[in-house]
Amino acid sequence: MSETQFAEMATRWYDQNARDLPWREPDVGAWAILVSEIMLQQTPVVRVLPAWRAWLARWPVPAALAADTPAEAIRMWGRLGYPRRALRLRECAVALTQRHDGVVPTDLDALLALPGVGSYTARAVAAFAYGQRHPVVDTNVRRLVARAVTGLPDAGPATRPADLVATEELLPVEPARAAWASAAFMELGALVCTARGPRCGECPLAEVCAWRAAGRPAAPGPTRRPQQYAGTDRQVRGLLLAVLRETVGPVPGERLDLVWTDDVQRARALAGLVQDGLVERAGADAYTLAGDRRLI
Ligand code: SF4
Repeated sequence: MSETQFAEMATRWYDQNARDLPWREPDVGAWAILVSEIMLQQTPVVRVLPAWRAWLARWPVPAALAADTPAEAIRMWGRLGYPRRALRLRECAVALTQRHDGVVPTDLDALLALPGVGSYTARAVAAFAYGQRHPVVDTNVRRLVARAVTGLPDAGPATRPADLVATEELLPVEPARAAWASAAFMELGALVCTARGPRCGECPLAEVCAWRAAGRPAAPGPTRRPQQYAGTDRQVRGLLLAVLRETVGPVPGERLDLVWTDDVQRARALAGLVQDGLVERAGADAYTLAGDRRLI
């Protein structure tokens, strides 16, 4: 079987089984796709949907977000997690406005030069917004390729050039079909070839999958445990940000003291938020979200 037959099988399945997601609508635009790709990193679709709609209703073009404050971006990000993405997305909107007349560029190198836009996001935007032929490699695609093509149970540590080459070899030559195949691979990895419970019986690649043919051998070594959230600095940062998001004006340190009883951990989390540019000091012992114009 030729390698692009993987793409044919995957796209036939995708034509029938793709989820109906708003950022896949034909006229949605590159800015909306870029926002969706950044929100979807490490965040499930169901949580992204309302945040994405609200974000684009408020900031339908990059220039609108660029004209607003970092604090408002952090507020709108709400509880999506990893809130530095909100700051980076606003920085990206500023760069788009200043360097590209408010338009998301089509060129891969120009996309890669934008703040907060990495290898995955740049290629996803070039493929899904502009129909270009690029390997779009997220965790799900790496796992799918490792199993179906290489016969390994998971993808192992990321090796970006090798991952890109391995996925590119599976893409059809014609750019629009390659972009469609990239979307199909991502959907298969997200819905069928999942990390813990691959549903090989429903998989369009089942007949040609190398890992399945080998009897689905287990990965050597211990199983990776899912990351804990409760009790971590991430949780404390989230609690501190929640207070700052909901408050107009500087928040006294003593108010923030109430969110977590461990003084050392709370101070460390707050210092981390300041260091990341999400929070600013406002006087001797008070804090605000970064650049909060509501104070003026
Ligand atoms: S047959 Fe199973 S392991 Fe192979 S690609 Fe499909 S879901 Fe993944």
